[in-house]
Amino acid sequence: AQKTVLITGCSSGIGLALAVKMARDEQKRFKVYATMRNLTRQDKLAEAAGRTLGKTLEIKQLDVCSEESIKTCVSSIPDRRIDILVSNAGMGLIGPIECQTIDEMKTVMDTNFFGLVRLLKEILPDMKKRKSGHIVIISSVMGIQGILFNDVYAASKFAVEGFCESLAIQALKFKLQLSLIEPGPVITEFEKKVFEDGMKMDLSAADEETADMFTNIYLKNYKQIFQILGQSAEDIAEVISQIILCKNPPFRHQTNTLYTPMTTLKYADPNGDLPIDTFYKMVFQHDKIFSASLNFIKLLRWRSRKSFDLGNPSQ
Ligand code: NAD
Repeated sequence: AQKTVLITGCSSGIGLALAVKMARDEQKRFKVYATMRNLTRQDKLAEAAGRTLGKTLEIKQLDVCSEESIKTCVSSIPDRRIDILVSNAGMGLIGPIECQTIDEMKTVMDTNFFGLVRLLKEILPDMKKRKSGHIVIISSVMGIQGILFNDVYAASKFAVEGFCESLAIQALKFKLQLSLIEPGPVITEFEKKVFEDGMKMDLSAADEETADMFTNIYLKNYKQIFQILGQSAEDIAEVISQIILCKNPPFRHQTNTLYTPMTTLKYADPNGDLPIDTFYKMVFQHDKIFSASLNFIKLLRWRSRKSFDLGNPSQ
């Protein structure tokens, strides 16, 4: 039987790419409910969906910040049956915390963290009753490791990870699957918007040194990091669909092998100093980048011995 997939945040980026990929499955294994907050932004998705629109793909309104909107959307699905939930909607925020308002920070938490909580409050009870369902959450490498000037965004993704780690134990009892996808940089509207907001930011509340660090170190290197390490939305959609088709999907999966040495530093040093020290050297002591790179290579080797194999997707 066809599996129903509900994806949030499908007007752009990873959500759009995944919705289209799953709707185009040659074996027509999925019925995709591609949802978005604002239906006036559906043109790009409708165009990309092509002939699948109205067949294996349906567009629905869903704002993860509104319980009512979630309820209305889920209730409009036959038997409220969602086999696979992909919690993808999210937003970024960069800059010194002195220059961000608490309201801006709350919006990030409300979208990235409470958005997931709201979805699960509505969808989890049905999955538990059926004792079947796969919950796929688009987290980030910043859900396991903080990065300079991404304090609140990282906090929102850490919240997601802690929430899911706790829930996963209960989910196991109900035979439900939970998978956290942890991409590194992905070139989408997200990256553009975050950069533009950073460029426009009023830095007057920050001291000169912090403002300079943000403008002349962080923002200056931002584009380059995305150019060197960035994956495409389609790359991430490919990984997510593999995870969905996997017989035993992993609880965590990082999509970017170039980034794994960084996240591995955390597990290599229980004291937590190694990743912080390495990031510090990368940002502030370019001459020491060599020793930091050596650390990476050593860890890359260690990691490649332990690398995780997704195995063959089930048919
Ligand atoms: P994107 O901006 O293209 O997509 C995010 C989508 O979420 C947008 O379509 C936006 O409209 C939607 N959204 C925001 N608030 C919403 C709300 N209240 N209700 C419903 N939809 C809402 O960016 P993306 O890169 O495709 O981001 C998708 C996910 O991937 C996010 O959770 C993001 O945190 C995560 N992620 C992105 C990157 C990256 O570098 N782009 C890296 C790691 C993780």
